[in-house]
Amino acid sequence: MSEAGKQAFFDGLRENLEQLRGQGLYKPERVLASRQGAEVVAADGRTLINMCANNYLGLSGDLQTQQAAIAATERYGYGLSSVRFICGTQTVHKELEAALSRFLGMPDTILYAAAFDANGGLFEPLFDENDAIISDALNHASIIDGVRLCKAARYRYQHNDMADLEAQLQAAADKRHKVIATDGVFSMDGTIAQLDKICDLADRYGALVMIDECHASGFMGRTGRGTHEHHGVMGRVDIITGTLGKALGGAMGGFTAARQEVIDTLRQKSRPYLFSNSLAPSIAGASLAVLERLSASTELRDRLHENTAYFRAEIARIGFTIKPGTHPVVPVMLFEAPLAQRFAARMFELGVLLSGFFYPVVPMGQARVRVQLSAAHTRAQLDTVLAAFAQAGRELDILPRA
Ligand SMILES: *Cc1c(COP(=O)(O)O)cnc(C)c1O
Repeated sequence: MSEAGKQAFFDGLRENLEQLRGQGLYKPERVLASRQGAEVVAADGRTLINMCANNYLGLSGDLQTQQAAIAATERYGYGLSSVRFICGTQTVHKELEAALSRFLGMPDTILYAAAFDANGGLFEPLFDENDAIISDALNHASIIDGVRLCKAARYRYQHNDMADLEAQLQAAADKRHKVIATDGVFSMDGTIAQLDKICDLADRYGALVMIDECHASGFMGRTGRGTHEHHGVMGRVDIITGTLGKALGGAMGGFTAARQEVIDTLRQKSRPYLFSNSLAPSIAGASLAVLERLSASTELRDRLHENTAYFRAEIARIGFTIKPGTHPVVPVMLFEAPLAQRFAARMFELGVLLSGFFYPVVPMGQARVRVQLSAAHTRAQLDTVLAAFAQAGRELDILPRA
């Protein structure tokens, strides 16, 4: 390639990046100098209360989890240098797959390097042009990509709209196999999919049900099994995908749980599984310890829901508008993008880490800061955060200046 040709390529990238900055859409990365937790230390040495991690059960920086990872490393080594089917399967991987099946109440489970891979490699091996995938309009990017890689006909229903889901099921009536695909919980609003109704519609129209439990596994439902437990439909969901990188430890890794025929097919044909490395033994061992801990006691899950109920009640009492609900994702609505940006920046100065979201990530006029509760937050930390909300709210004329 000529120098001029190369230069044009790099210039194009730079212009795109400048455009992103100009539109306020550029995503800077915050650098932490500490482990993940309720409090983190920024690279500049400042301590911040962290309200934007998916660290729902507080296990990311947890010492017990860390010890389990070290123990697994001591026994199984650092890595496998192999995919699973060549020489990359250790007893710890089989134990974790069995433990996930038990925890989720599903027949069988397959591990992936990430939930993104689990979703990306799910649809193509199972469905073809004779079949239909009926997908919630706000599903996670990894489901959208997985569906794109599959030849099945695509039907999209309006977010969380059961009437439209039914209309799409009717539209797909002549297809051989049908599968409804939805996030169990949608991370922008903390909206919980109406799985009871979805399962009823699936029964009526002869469809399978697939849910992505990344924002649910470990803490939704009475014993933390997920959205299917929350809605009383354990045993009625056909395929569950999820992550080991949020509540269930927080390092990385993903999984798909389903009947054995499905899992066996994925082991033979799912490309991110076949052509990508085994999960590190440290992660498999630590995840196993996490599942044992969550099966023995609901203490962490209970503390998370107590923190969530407290924060939701107090932030509303102070005078902020939140999206109603029960999930530890709490969208605090500020409506206008510049205000959401200024608010998040002021909270940062006040020692609270949280993220602002605005168009196009959320609809125009729906800008917000998103708070995520953790079992690791103390009541004192939540009170500090609430006081900062009150102060920033008064300073920015969101709340009356008493
Ligand atoms: C985070 C997330 C993923 C991706 O999980 P990774 O394990 O980090 O790849 C997939 N789906 C949903 C709904 C998520 O929130």
